[in-house]
Amino acid sequence: MLEKLNALIEKAKERMAELQTLQEAEELRIKLLGKKGELTEILRSVKDLSPEERKALGRVANEARDKIENGLNARMRDFKLRTEQAELIKQKIDVTQPGKIVSIGSRHLLTITIDEMTRIFRSMGFSVSEGPEVETVFNNFDALNADPNHPSRDITDTFYINDEVILRTQTSPVQVRTILAQKPPIMVVAPGRCFRCDTPDATHSPMFHQIEGLAVDEGISMADLKGVMDSFAKQMFGSSTRTRFRPHHFPFTEPSAEMDVSCFKCGGVGCRVCKGSGWIEILGCGEVHPNVLKVGNIDTERYTGFAFGIGVERTAMLKYEVDDIRLFYENDIRFVGQFR
Ligand SMILES: [Zn+2]
Repeated sequence: MLEKLNALIEKAKERMAELQTLQEAEELRIKLLGKKGELTEILRSVKDLSPEERKALGRVANEARDKIENGLNARMRDFKLRTEQAELIKQKIDVTQPGKIVSIGSRHLLTITIDEMTRIFRSMGFSVSEGPEVETVFNNFDALNADPNHPSRDITDTFYINDEVILRTQTSPVQVRTILAQKPPIMVVAPGRCFRCDTPDATHSPMFHQIEGLAVDEGISMADLKGVMDSFAKQMFGSSTRTRFRPHHFPFTEPSAEMDVSCFKCGGVGCRVCKGSGWIEILGCGEVHPNVLKVGNIDTERYTGFAFGIGVERTAMLKYEVDDIRLFYENDIRFVGQFR
């Protein structure tokens, strides 16, 4: 029995020296010291021996178990340490390496302009609404009091999907949608895309943006319109900006006007931006035509309103001195990255 034990101890020493991995060490521990392990078997059979033998063998066996246990534990600690060190080396950060350049995007200039405009109108109490880009002929023309023979209805001007459906040519149909859905008082602005059959050049694009405005309430007059538009111009182009209204014609407003702002580049003296006149036309507006209010069953004896439409591209081009509308859609990052 003692010989068997000594042989086992010798063998265990050899096997421990040959261990390569933590898993191998664990396997060896089970093989020797586990419930059915080789050393465990020997220790178990000690009870069959005589008391003297038992004492001698028991001491050697216990010592052997301690040695094997300590030896295995040391190897396992060693393996764990090595694994940890390998991990740390893998994770090491070389602080001398050049950093990765993170490029930060920027808002598109048209988005910046729309955000700025809606912020100004929100501050005056307008809410922001949106309508679909695919519109009915009724909402885009009929309900807005457009003459059945108005040239803008022509297929050379408007993209038709079928006889009843078009790509909207203006954001004004949102006025119709609003008065059909809400009761006065109404104060809403609606930015969005519009489409017209234009050949692209420096100032025309078949797709462009407008921001529409509509206010309907008791006692709204041209003076309210002028006040709101003047305040908008001062906030958009600078506090020294002056405004003037010129009579104009739109089917859905009566009276109608175009509004000019004093040139924010030269202050009204005359320059290239204002083409020497000192004034720049920026928007169309007017008192809402009673025929439009009637579409929404609004009592035209009691309620009046004003509406306006502002070209977003035109405003951005003037304010940021962009001289070709096509630059907005080419998405050349040398252009779009200039505006934050
Ligand atoms: Zn000027």
